[in-house]
Amino acid sequence: MSRIVFIEERCKGCLLCAGVCPKSIIRQSARMNRQGYRVAETGENAEACAGCAGCAVMCPDMAIRVFKTKKMKNSKEARA
Ligand code: SF4
Ligand code: SF4
Repeated sequence: MSRIVFIEERCKGCLLCAGVCPKSIIRQSARMNRQGYRVAETGENAEACAGCAGCAVMCPDMAIRVFKTKKMKNSKEARA
């Protein structure tokens, strides 16, 4: 399972990352960082992350790190 981690102090809450996520797993949280921005987070279906890194590429503040699964266990998971 791939996953992403937000560097919350860099996040400005613009949600550009959410707009490009093919799995729609990114949303705005209720938490504010020290700059006063409501930071992004992954929702309940975070495990659906495909590891595509689209969110990290889109983020203008380099606030997302992607940890990719090296190999999908089966083809069904690879399509998910
Ligand atoms: S694109 Fe970057 S700055 Fe904008 S909400 Fe997503 S993580 Fe935060
Ligand atoms: S790596 Fe891809 S699937 Fe995972 S949260 Fe980012 S855009 Fe969505």
